[in-house]
Amino acid sequence: MQTLCNFDPDYWVQYQSVEEKFANVVMNNTSSGDFLWIHDFHLLGLARRIRSKGFKERIGFFLHIPFPPPDIFCKLPWRSQVLEGMLHSDLIGFQSSRHRENFLDCVRRLMPQVRLARSGSMMECTFENHTARVGVFPIGVDYNQFADAADSAEITSRVKTIRNDLPGRQIVLGVDRLDHTKGIPYRLRAFELAMRRYPELHRSVSLLQVVVPSRESVPKYQELKADIEQEVSRINGEFTQPGWVPIHHVFRSLEWEDLVSYYRAADVALITPLKDGMNLVAKEYCACQSEENGVLILSEFAGAAMQMKRDALLVNPYDIESVAKAIHTAVTMSTADRRPLMRHLRGVVRREDVYWWLDRFLEAGGVAMPNTESHEEHKLATAWL
Ligand code: UDP
Repeated sequence: MQTLCNFDPDYWVQYQSVEEKFANVVMNNTSSGDFLWIHDFHLLGLARRIRSKGFKERIGFFLHIPFPPPDIFCKLPWRSQVLEGMLHSDLIGFQSSRHRENFLDCVRRLMPQVRLARSGSMMECTFENHTARVGVFPIGVDYNQFADAADSAEITSRVKTIRNDLPGRQIVLGVDRLDHTKGIPYRLRAFELAMRRYPELHRSVSLLQVVVPSRESVPKYQELKADIEQEVSRINGEFTQPGWVPIHHVFRSLEWEDLVSYYRAADVALITPLKDGMNLVAKEYCACQSEENGVLILSEFAGAAMQMKRDALLVNPYDIESVAKAIHTAVTMSTADRRPLMRHLRGVVRREDVYWWLDRFLEAGGVAMPNTESHEEHKLATAWL
């Protein structure tokens, strides 16, 4: 979100000092043959820093968030240091091919001395006698954990309670961390437009918007929270009727069982980020749809769109007319039309789960899992997720 960027040089000094702390811990805790896996935007320069301290082992780096295109990335005062920092890894992973292309375009533009070559599904970036391989590894969720829980007797009973509380109503569900990238104000306006354009949806559809608190001490996030509350109140003020509230707004972190219950109970998931590395909520929703009756409305700007675009209703979240139309299409879709779409989506989420992602990344990094059949082994390896 470039309009929210503040390139204060002190931030860069702090960023590097944190990197230095990590570097010292890594240097004191690794031994020969180790594979170091660095995660996310907090540690973009760590590989370079530890190489300069003499680290010789293999390094993998995975970026969970999107990588911006050159026109945005080039605004960063420390752009070359960031790219160079990343290129000291042996393997660099992105969530989608769009993010990888953005990264490679930035390398082409800012570091013409780097030689680029294709090698199978990977791209190779060679610079100062070192080659970094760059691949696409879309992260998944623990499908079985969600699907088994959603099917359990306890969740089934909770789902019944949720549905009884909203009789005769379709639930459109949004679940997001409080963040500008999630596009919540646009989504609320799209829902409002759907209520205006399609009055037949009044009393038969409610939006349940869960917002999970995040970075609440940052003024821009406080403003976003106030904006969301104001929009919800304005829309409900206009449309509420006795026995029907169009938008139910929850501002807190949910118990996991409640989240799974909402996922299973919801007739439609409305997932419209303006930008998102992947969006795990989209995949968790499908994993929990054991009755295969839900419809996924998904932003084309979520990394998840790469795997789910065929069977989701894909929308441009800035185009609130198309989102309003998608809401109408979703809630009026017959069960016979919904089922094959959700079945395919669940197949993708099941096959390409978090363990598939883990195996693919480690395999590309030249690391064999001790026992890839063992879920316990996998669970340990992904416990930090
Ligand atoms: N989530 C949570 N508490 C909640 C609601 C959601 O921990 O009350 C989890 C959800 O299960 C998902 C994650 O938050 O795994 C959100 O991931 P996503 O990729 O959708 O967005 P991010 O917040 O990472 O940008």
